[in-house]
Amino acid sequence: MMIIGAEVAYNGLGTPQPNGAVVLQRRKSQVTVLSIESYGSAVKAFPDAVVLGKDFAISPPPVNAHTHLDLSKMPYSPGSYEEFIPQVVRHRRRLTDPVEAAKIGVERVKAAGTTVIGDIVKSDSVMRFLLNQTGLRGVAYLEVFEPDPTLAKKVFFETEERIKEYQALEKPSCMQVGISLHSPHTVSEPLLKEISGLSVQRNLPLQIHVSETSGEIAFHKDGTGPFPELYGDLLRNWKPSGLTPVGYLAKIGVLKARPTLVHMVHVNEADVREVQRAGCTVVHCPRSNANLNCGRFPWAMFAKHGTTVAIGTDSLGSSQSLSVYEEVHEAMALHGNSISPLALVRSAVKGGHRALGLRPPKVGRGDDQTQFQVWGRRGPNLDLGIGVTDNIGEIDK
Ligand SMILES: [Zn+2]
Repeated sequence: MMIIGAEVAYNGLGTPQPNGAVVLQRRKSQVTVLSIESYGSAVKAFPDAVVLGKDFAISPPPVNAHTHLDLSKMPYSPGSYEEFIPQVVRHRRRLTDPVEAAKIGVERVKAAGTTVIGDIVKSDSVMRFLLNQTGLRGVAYLEVFEPDPTLAKKVFFETEERIKEYQALEKPSCMQVGISLHSPHTVSEPLLKEISGLSVQRNLPLQIHVSETSGEIAFHKDGTGPFPELYGDLLRNWKPSGLTPVGYLAKIGVLKARPTLVHMVHVNEADVREVQRAGCTVVHCPRSNANLNCGRFPWAMFAKHGTTVAIGTDSLGSSQSLSVYEEVHEAMALHGNSISPLALVRSAVKGGHRALGLRPPKVGRGDDQTQFQVWGRRGPNLDLGIGVTDNIGEIDK
């Protein structure tokens, strides 16, 4: 028998346990969970067990709910958002083999100890590559980017065809297909409506980047701010709604599709109420927001309204790594006492699954030890497959 303690122990459902522990037992060659409970009660109930020191968390593996693996060859480029976007555009133009970049991304994600991701996919080749990956689950979101309303019908029919094709390639226990609307201003209103309708009709997970910068707010309010210069002729048809980006998405019916809303830094309380009413999940990318000077995600306001928050790394262009564990610790440093470690772990695990439209996992008695992770600041900390399980074997002899 073995007890591993952690600041937070979470079985995947309900409220995480502060100062918790997982109790492991060996049955023949398999090491399984006996219980996840408070550290104190575990030590009392199993006085003969080997007790390992405390780590940060014990939980089902956390999810990286938002990334762009095809940008994994882009140099890390901190600065302002307005400087970053042209760099992404230039990088993509020069990128001859996006699959090679996505491969690097997959390796990085796996090396960081994550197997469930939400990835934004631009190219056909990367989509096919991801749907064929083993050992990786989650959603590959086909990105739609077309601000010209006269092209809405054409792009919609093309997207619908591609989605059908990709869904036919889906395999059990691998990545599934979703759609990403790039943002509320880089996709025209008719296309936003059509695609969100398609998402409902075909039960497709949907993600949108929303309210990432203060410039986005100004652009939606009255067409001012840095966006007219940033996007130039591309957004020549833009007519500001006078609303917030969230208010605009609510007004035109997109929130009815319950999209997962990524970033959500510049929101007011009415926006948060709207999001909560619609039942949307929000993805927080703390390092990307900090590195691109986007501002501070108002987590306390989302918490006040009970919104489900997930965690994402965004791309290697705007973040130092693809480790969601490092992202969680960055969030902890950023939000301090306003968000508890319990809420952070629940967000990274349950929130992450919700963001991708997946059923959150639950670990309990009899489950194999591979169903959970013991993790700290930089990632999974214990190789339970070797050291720890051998140790349990010795104890049982
Ligand atoms: Zn993104």
